[in-house]
Amino acid sequence: MTKNVAIIGGGPSGLMAADVLSAHGHMVTIYERKPSMGRKFLMAGRGGLNITYSENLEKFIQKYNEAADILKPVIHHFTPQDMRDWCEALGEETFIGSSGRVFPKSFKASPLLRAWLARLEAQKVIFKTRHDWQGWRGDALYFQTNDGAVTVQADATLLALGGASWPNLGSDGSWVDILEGQDVKIAPLRPSNCGFIVKWSDVFSKKFEGKSLKAVALSYDGKTIKGEFIITKNGVEGGAIYALSSFLREGVADNGLASLILDLKPDLSEKEIIKRLQKPKSKLSMSNYLRKTLNLSDVAIGLIMELPERQKLNDYTPQNIAQLIKFYKLDLKETFAIDRAISTAGGVTFDNIDRNFMLKNKPSVFVTGEMLNWEAPTGGYLLQACMASGSYVGRGISDWFKD
Ligand SMILES: Cc1cc2nc3c(=O)[nH]c(=O)nc-3n(C[C@H](O)[C@H](O)[C@H](O)COP(=O)(O)OP(=O)(O)OC[C@H]3O[C@@H](n4cnc5c(N)ncnc54)[C@H](O)[C@@H]3O)c2cc1C
Repeated sequence: MTKNVAIIGGGPSGLMAADVLSAHGHMVTIYERKPSMGRKFLMAGRGGLNITYSENLEKFIQKYNEAADILKPVIHHFTPQDMRDWCEALGEETFIGSSGRVFPKSFKASPLLRAWLARLEAQKVIFKTRHDWQGWRGDALYFQTNDGAVTVQADATLLALGGASWPNLGSDGSWVDILEGQDVKIAPLRPSNCGFIVKWSDVFSKKFEGKSLKAVALSYDGKTIKGEFIITKNGVEGGAIYALSSFLREGVADNGLASLILDLKPDLSEKEIIKRLQKPKSKLSMSNYLRKTLNLSDVAIGLIMELPERQKLNDYTPQNIAQLIKFYKLDLKETFAIDRAISTAGGVTFDNIDRNFMLKNKPSVFVTGEMLNWEAPTGGYLLQACMASGSYVGRGISDWFKD
């Protein structure tokens, strides 16, 4: 029997649920506070839409760390291969990049979103933009619109409201107060895949702001990542930092600071560095000497010159200098604000929802996507979990109607 479903939030998770529910013959209306759908999805496509990752499925699922067991049936329900097939069905073939990341051939999100919205429209999904959901009045959903307040009754409601990063794109975590008011437990929203504050000297930040530190190894708490990151005016951000950010964030929370160990020259062993530093320095400045003997980048040399030890470097032995290069300690003070993060940790905890992702405290209300309490590194794991949970909950709502 056809039912009315209200989906609040027109991001990839809500759109995916709409796809499944409308294909099952239900009447779906998507309510979105912004003037158009999928703004964060489009932003994700700016630097290349990394839609999923190509690796063994069990290894893939482990990337969700503490939420891996809970998300296992979700990812099995809509796998990375399903994601690629789904893209292709919308006319966007995908390819696997050299790092294992999967992208649409066009690299962009806009053709995919356009085709997706057209299909939803063909499946009779109704789009209501500029509808800002503000909670319930009695049993009815309550929205503010440009034309005043609107109330809506639905057979089932799906909240697909996203996290709290990049709030100008629509998701700002304003749902937290509403749901806490309904006794739903929310793990505090925190930045994930985020940058960290470092207290640089003025000289360093002026010279290196915006520059990348490439081909370095970063270690924290027994985990090591090779990659690159960017120096910002007051800190560090970028791929290799994001990859460790969940652990670094907890380190900062527990200890007030997290000490990241950088290997500024991972392709040379300590022994080889010591050997090369036997070469006389002659009249070269220490910076030029390090550049010439070790081919260290300007940013790496700048980092060494940031150390209080820089005054004494001329008296250092090759062993001492090699230690500084191989075990450079960078103290991270706190995370950048959540509105600059790629994604959000925290959210509706899984003990609040049943196997169909319905809120135990609020029958007929379901949740999906980034507003749930999981986090994952970049690499396509975010969109995969958002869209897989949208598909999973779409089927769950359909099953619930049959019960
Ligand atoms: C710069 C950037 C790059 C990214 N790149 C990638 C990438 O390459 N690969 C990847 O996997 N992930 C990427 N992500 C993450 C990915 O985009 C998100 O994880 C994903 O969009 C979350 O989907 P969602 O549907 O749960 O929430 P969202 O996409 O945030 O959608 C939620 C929607 O709900 C609406 N909404 C919120 N509150 C209300 C309300 N009260 N009333 C009405 N509507 C409301 C919002 O306006 C929004 O449209 C990136 C994120 C950013 C910021």
